[in-house]
Amino acid sequence: MKAVVYNGPRDMQVKNVPDAKIERPTDVLVRITSTNICGSDLHMYEGRTDLEQGKVVGHENLGEVIEVGPAVDRIKVGDMVCLPFNIACGFCENCTKGLTGFCLTTNPDPKMAGAAYGYADMGPYNGGQAEYLRVPYGDFNCLVLPEDAREKEDDYVMLSDIFPTGWHSTELAGVQPGDSVVIYGAGPVGLMAAYSASIKGASKIMVVDRLPDRLRLAESIGAIAIDDSKSSPVEQVLAATQGKGADRGCECVGFQAHDTQGHEHPNMTLNNLVQSVKATGGIGVVGVFVPQDPGAPDQESKQGAINFDFGTFFFKGQSMGTGQANVKAYNRQLRDLIHVGKAKPSFIVSHHLPLDHATDAYQHFDARDEGWTKVILKTGK
Ligand SMILES: [Zn+2]
Ligand SMILES: [Zn+2]
Repeated sequence: MKAVVYNGPRDMQVKNVPDAKIERPTDVLVRITSTNICGSDLHMYEGRTDLEQGKVVGHENLGEVIEVGPAVDRIKVGDMVCLPFNIACGFCENCTKGLTGFCLTTNPDPKMAGAAYGYADMGPYNGGQAEYLRVPYGDFNCLVLPEDAREKEDDYVMLSDIFPTGWHSTELAGVQPGDSVVIYGAGPVGLMAAYSASIKGASKIMVVDRLPDRLRLAESIGAIAIDDSKSSPVEQVLAATQGKGADRGCECVGFQAHDTQGHEHPNMTLNNLVQSVKATGGIGVVGVFVPQDPGAPDQESKQGAINFDFGTFFFKGQSMGTGQANVKAYNRQLRDLIHVGKAKPSFIVSHHLPLDHATDAYQHFDARDEGWTKVILKTGK
């Protein structure tokens, strides 16, 4: 089958690899029809992870079930399914509590909780930027889509990661109806966080970024665009909240946060959030941070230790929730909002490209080229 393979830093290639297949009785085999390039794929693309050469990438996947293992009960051949990026067992201590992002079964590394398709340190699983994908524990992991699956495929594919991840950041931050919310990062996840805050009834949503195309998308859903290349984003947020700060804040940037000159400061968005959020406010962090970052600008950050303003955080009595989204905690409800027409997360999509164009698409998306806000690769077209 054709697949997007990591060949080294800034080198994603479309190659022929052995077909994905059923390996265990609980597996489901999916023919991929839509698979997104994710902002978090760029950490790997830029060589900032220890992803092994030859890995098939892609964790935002949707397609049609073409085969099921003999122990699969619920999922049928022909079902259109969206796959959470988390690969979870459904029976471990964390999965039974709904914390499927921290499954204790599916990652063979005993120091790690949680597994994913085609991702560094997240288990041996190949990704779905390919013609076929093996889905472990298919009965548990597949989200079956309704009869409008094909028609709303661009919306439903966002249930694999970014829509639930954006939603998760608002959950971690504790967003309630009427709250003011500041979101750092207007990439796909930040825009989904803003969209989620809007669905939850936030009274004021401020989105910090510096790329005009992204800020325009934030404004298109009613958020206030805050351009941090113009002046301090903290001061802009304080000015917009009578000096008090936002009730809630979401971090949707991660460890490669950088200033307008391009210098990386992994603590930048976190410390800005402490300043931008009111005393006793909540902060939700879903941007990726890593335990080891050999490419980091300083010695501490190489060990995942960042210079966080804990004293101010403590004095303000703020709270913070972190970590990858437990997609299954939200994807069913968000699917139903899409189905009835109350959510349309595809508003961020800029490109539909055949899988063969992946190498080029990675280059443009990584360069944050104007207009490349979200890419869906269409397999088999
Ligand atoms: Zn993703
Ligand atoms: Zn589990």
